[in-house]
Amino acid sequence: MVTKKVFLDLCIFMMILGIVVGFIFPFYALLMGIPSSYVLTPKYFLSSIAAGVFVGIFNYVLAKVIVGKRVKVLATRMNKIKDIISERNKSAIYIDCDDANCTIDVDSEDELGEAAIAFNALVSSLAVSYKTENSLKVFNKTISSRLELNILCETALNQIVDHSDSAGGMIIVDQNGLLEIISHRGIKENKDILNHEIIWRVLKTTKMESIRLPLDIAIDGILVTYQPKEILFVPIVYKELCLGIILLASTDTYSEQIKNDIQLLNSSFALALKNSLSYNQLQELAANDPLTNIFNRRFGMLRLEEEYNRSIRMNIPLGVFIADIDFFKNVNDTYGHTVGDHVLIQIARTAKQALREGDIFIRYGGEEFMAILPGASIQDIKLVAERFRRMVQESSLQHLNQEIKVTISIGITSFPENDASKMEDLIETADQALYQAKETGRNKVV
Ligand code: GH3
Ligand code: MG
Ligand code: MG
Repeated sequence: MVTKKVFLDLCIFMMILGIVVGFIFPFYALLMGIPSSYVLTPKYFLSSIAAGVFVGIFNYVLAKVIVGKRVKVLATRMNKIKDIISERNKSAIYIDCDDANCTIDVDSEDELGEAAIAFNALVSSLAVSYKTENSLKVFNKTISSRLELNILCETALNQIVDHSDSAGGMIIVDQNGLLEIISHRGIKENKDILNHEIIWRVLKTTKMESIRLPLDIAIDGILVTYQPKEILFVPIVYKELCLGIILLASTDTYSEQIKNDIQLLNSSFALALKNSLSYNQLQELAANDPLTNIFNRRFGMLRLEEEYNRSIRMNIPLGVFIADIDFFKNVNDTYGHTVGDHVLIQIARTAKQALREGDIFIRYGGEEFMAILPGASIQDIKLVAERFRRMVQESSLQHLNQEIKVTISIGITSFPENDASKMEDLIETADQALYQAKETGRNKVV
């Protein structure tokens, strides 16, 4: 190095080389047989040296044009990337940086070409990592505030499926030991999947598994209509506890990069899911009666109020019944309070079978239950109440080789067939009917 400029150094060396070559050339000419009177003259020496210097300068210009131009492009692009990095919070690289303004054309197979290839690779991996970072930001922002389980899972699934370019996905959540499909997209909601050995293995090992099709056609048929190439089973793990599984299907195979991204999104999702599940449990605790695990009276009355208002607004009937166990004191006195409690639990279970989804069953008092049936006329509520009464009568509880059987009396009402100017009127009417059932022999519906 002579100066601190590569091209200037090159120029100096070229010119020195030109002078040396210019000096040697006349002797070479002598050897080639050119007469010394012609060669060994100052004029010949000077022109030979001048030619050498000229070639040296010409070389410098060529190098500057050919190499310098490319180095300049590299420098410009590097500067551009540097600007983007320093402004990355304002603009994401993958939006602002396309092939035309960030990457370098690779048009030579030498060190310069190699440098261009390396630079392009650097830019693209930077772009990928910014894309991930950005997705993660958006993902965290949209899911962190969601507490409602269905909405949370749907939002998360959509983003994970989109980000991973999957054809479909499904979120399975362990709800108190019971697996449930909470949301699915592009994958059939087939409960058979819940029994698949891979699901159980992933839950147990909390390790991600992947199957490449058509190696395992068994999944194919029950899940999707398209031809997936790979299916991922990603455990949703929070503090070593597996909360569920995200299933993703792709018509292509997943790259390591995408798998990493999925894991990143998944770990944020695990925290949000944990929050949502805890929240739901708290809600349940507040709404449910601890013995029978059906709605408690306080929550039940809120629901009755809602249903009563909805019935008026939508002009649909609302059926209500109150059931009371006959001679329940005797059960307690004969078998003890604990057995009495079991009878209550059993009756709550029977009610679940007698009622439809959407009906509301409440522990109204100690051994009194209330059912709210939106849409039920007197005729409907009578049928359901009668079915419930009969089911209780026919069921029994085993205790120390003894069969304990109880019966219930039920008072029914339905709005608007039975008038009610406020919610309490509904209860009053059902209560009176129950009283009549008790008065007129019990084990009946009035
Ligand atoms: P009937 O309703 O047919 O008139 O007779 P009954 O013997 O059932 O009378 P009543 O409805 O007044 O009795 C309520 C009894 O239910 C009193 C109480 O010992 C019992 N009971 C209330 N809550 C519970 C409970 O949580 N567990 C148990 N084991 N018993 C309860
Ligand atoms: Mg009672
Ligand atoms: Mg009773």
